[in-house]
Amino acid sequence: SKITIAIDGFSSTGKSTLAKQLAKELGYVYVDTGAMYRAITLFAMRNNFIADGEERLEDLVKLLPKIKLRFVPNPELGFAEMYLNNENVEKEIRTMRVSKYVSRIAEIEQVRFKLVEMQKDMGKEKGIVMDGRDIGTVVFPDAELKVFMTASPQARATRRYKELLDRGEEVLYKDVLENVEKRDFIDSHREFSPLRKADDAIEFDNSDMGLKEQFERLLSIAER
Ligand code: C5P
Repeated sequence: SKITIAIDGFSSTGKSTLAKQLAKELGYVYVDTGAMYRAITLFAMRNNFIADGEERLEDLVKLLPKIKLRFVPNPELGFAEMYLNNENVEKEIRTMRVSKYVSRIAEIEQVRFKLVEMQKDMGKEKGIVMDGRDIGTVVFPDAELKVFMTASPQARATRRYKELLDRGEEVLYKDVLENVEKRDFIDSHREFSPLRKADDAIEFDNSDMGLKEQFERLLSIAER
């Protein structure tokens, strides 16, 4: 019978690649919770609630109930795209500009409350693979299968750097490395649901283990 799978870990450890592949193989729904935090961040940036040296986060909190987030499946791509107030923002939320502010926005208690509620709701039906930072600890503490992924900052920055170049964004490796390290620090030190491994999660270090090996190991556990 179907189960709930929670995949957490540091930035760019390959969580989403693994989660997507697992969902596809099992015929499960895949949910990328990072996309939700990124969409709220984009909203905050567009409304000038966050910029360098400037924050008006109370104004963002006031408008939270008006922000509509939706995942819309794109059969051509084989995954769902993020819509912010009925606009497809899938490409824009992946830019370095958004990555720069997202961890700051993800610290806000009311933001987490709104998104965690939505995520719990999506998980009411079993057969879901969700990736993020607090899925095994806060969103689905009873998930049947939990994975916590790590890798060296260099391995992670290299992965993210390649992704950004593939999307045609002009970035410097050193800026990507700095962003990855900074986000990990904020994510694991924040007050509300900081990033940490759930006691019952299986830990994967992606620096030395190949994706195929991980995938096969997880699949065999999920199918038991
Ligand atoms: O997974 P991704 O790197 O796209 O996530 C972007 C950011 O969103 C993370 O660095 C973190 O600050 C925040 N996030 C979170 N909780 C989640 C998922 C993402 O705080 N469940």
